[in-house]
Amino acid sequence: MTIKIGIAGYGNLGKGVECAIRHNPDLELSAVFTRRDPESITLLTPGVNVYPMEEAISKKDSIDVMILCGGSAVDLPVQTPLLARHFNVVDSFDTHARIPQHFEAVDEAAKEGNKVGIISVGWDPGMFSLNRLYGESILPGGHDYTFWGRGVSQGHSDAIRRIEGVKDARQYTIPVEEALEAVRSGKNPELTTRDKHTRECFVVAEENADLNRIREEIISMPNYFADYDTTVHFISEEELHRDHRGIPHGGFVIRTGNTGWEDENSHVIEYSLKLDSNPEFTASVLTAYARAAYRLNQEGQSGCKTVLDVAPAYLSAFSGKELRGRLL
Ligand code: NAP
Repeated sequence: MTIKIGIAGYGNLGKGVECAIRHNPDLELSAVFTRRDPESITLLTPGVNVYPMEEAISKKDSIDVMILCGGSAVDLPVQTPLLARHFNVVDSFDTHARIPQHFEAVDEAAKEGNKVGIISVGWDPGMFSLNRLYGESILPGGHDYTFWGRGVSQGHSDAIRRIEGVKDARQYTIPVEEALEAVRSGKNPELTTRDKHTRECFVVAEENADLNRIREEIISMPNYFADYDTTVHFISEEELHRDHRGIPHGGFVIRTGNTGWEDENSHVIEYSLKLDSNPEFTASVLTAYARAAYRLNQEGQSGCKTVLDVAPAYLSAFSGKELRGRLL
């Protein structure tokens, strides 16, 4: 028997989930739902239909888990609680400061519907959060470091595009190698924002635009660039499309800490990701957690959970017996 998956929202993440299902024979794509005209969307999977989002609830008997692939800013705060009343759901809500509020809304809805909702699944929040928890539980009193990149930041790219005279832009967040090495050496350095990351921008300007003004506006932009060493390159539209089409990302979560009566021994835990495609990787994490949502609900659980609440074996397609034999 396969677990039937629905996809709500068909952007980068939605397509990534469709691809991930192909790699998981115990899962099956049942339907895709969109707010756009379903006719305007062509799926990769043959024989699966796209329906208007309003019809999702009428299909609830043919879907075991709905994977929500909308944006965190405006889609998920509305869509996840709405659908959690009727489906087991998984989302990738990544507005860190608003996670507690989102948790409450999904918890109430999922408990009412006797469903499980797993929120903020992905890599950060998600796999990075799990590794921070493992690190601080094993080495209490130690230090925590997170570095992001090298990767494309959608938010920073959008901020550059809003500047007058900018046609298109791509921004890469890059960890500073010396800072990474200092952390790995166990020196527990105090690092400022500027010490940890640099920002590199590739900008396509409108014809006759004032490039110096654009550069100045970028590097002095508060919150986004002012606290970083930022490099700006002006390139052609062709170069942008040729060299900067991908959506790579990644990063490092490092925990350092000491053990022994006199703290005489030091330890470094490092989890690192190097992703060719941020959305496809995020979608793969969502898909593994969809299996967990289904199983938890089969066991009679309901309400909202995060990656911190789900035991790892629930993610695997293999039985506990197989996992104990192979992985321990
Ligand atoms: P996206 O491509 O912009 O898609 C978001 C939604 O926009 C889609 O569900 C789709 O909904 C709609 N859409 C997509 N393409 C469209 C188009 N051409 N015209 C009009 N509407 C379109 O965003 P994404 O890259 O999939 O990312 C979704 C969210 O994932 C992000 O907001 C981010 O917060 C989160 N994320 C989390 C992590 C993590 O580690 N936790 C990592 C990466 C991303 P409809 O089909 O209903 O129109």
